[in-house]
Amino acid sequence: MANPSFSSLHAVADRQAESADAAASTTPAAEGFAPRPDINRVLDVPAEVTDQVRRVFPVQWPRYYLDLAEQQGPDSAVARMGRPRLTELVQDQGDIADPIADRRQRPVPFVVQKHADRVIILATKKCHFYCRFCFRREEPVARAMELSRADWRCIFDFLRANPDIKEPILSGGDPLTLTDEHLAWVRSELETIPSVTHWRIHSRAPVHYPARVTTGLTAALQGRLPLRLVCHFNHRDEQTPQSLAAVARLQAAGVQVENQAVLLQGVNDSLAAQQALWQGLAAAGVKPRYLHHPDRVAGNAPFRVSIEQGRRLYTAMTQTLDPEQNPRYVIDLPDGTGKIPVAAMERQADGTYRYQHPDGRLSVYQDWC
Ligand SMILES: *Cc1c(COP(=O)(O)O)cnc(C)c1O
Repeated sequence: MANPSFSSLHAVADRQAESADAAASTTPAAEGFAPRPDINRVLDVPAEVTDQVRRVFPVQWPRYYLDLAEQQGPDSAVARMGRPRLTELVQDQGDIADPIADRRQRPVPFVVQKHADRVIILATKKCHFYCRFCFRREEPVARAMELSRADWRCIFDFLRANPDIKEPILSGGDPLTLTDEHLAWVRSELETIPSVTHWRIHSRAPVHYPARVTTGLTAALQGRLPLRLVCHFNHRDEQTPQSLAAVARLQAAGVQVENQAVLLQGVNDSLAAQQALWQGLAAAGVKPRYLHHPDRVAGNAPFRVSIEQGRRLYTAMTQTLDPEQNPRYVIDLPDGTGKIPVAAMERQADGTYRYQHPDGRLSVYQDWC
């Protein structure tokens, strides 16, 4: 198979809806994925629904993760996170276009910068599994061009020209859909930039597709630069012997593993679910990073929680979880000012929220309910 990450996919000008799914399934290890009829059966979804929804945002399940959904049933957290629903095709009053102003802050293509010392690199549009709540679901996979080597060189030049940037963060999509060779190349290029002191990967692969964490992968990631991998467990049900073993393999290779979760209606919006999630991670040596308030992107309305609902839950978490196990509860604001602590937002008489940034700037947020 041609290496999809190196070949320029500019030729994918074909905007046929079908191709969203086809492009998604060209991940490096296609053999570990479930056929669509199995997905429909396990999730109890009519084939017509999946076929309509996947035209907008791909539907793909690693066999391992679909087996989990099958064991845990159609109402489980795992099934809910990946079940295609017709609501994904319907506009909602609460939708915000570009909900975290990611698309307005790209100094070079595929780079998002909101901080002086770190940037996000959108290393790919592909994922092993497509979370239905994804805040980047508006960037369709088929239409999105994958990075060519020339695009990567532009990014390396940008980092070299901006020595304040110490930590490039590979995100996406899921950067671990790139091949080992590609990741090793990116790492070795980053190593040649004197101002880069460490790097980071944001990936859900250990959760959805633990078999991706091979000795070949860990070898590709090891080098001069310390690496942090921020994974994305949303529920204790995802902490299986397989996913925890994948985490342990990363840790054994010297990777610091942290976790960020998204607060999701009907998935993990109870105190018991949050306690089990973060206590389980602590037992596995995974540091808590963020609990993200869900971003209001078109198509993910059923997963949203209100600021007040989130605050009540987080107060209870703060009162009951060991401080070492408690993540920071943050929202990424639509005005592009970045992540702020939800607890520090001040509710106004008119129902809006205000937040004063440490540098004096003021943000105003309007909840959807
Ligand atoms: C979240 C984010 C980061 C990483 O921020 P941390 O607080 O270090 O996790 C960096 N850049 C952008 C644009 C982000 O949205």
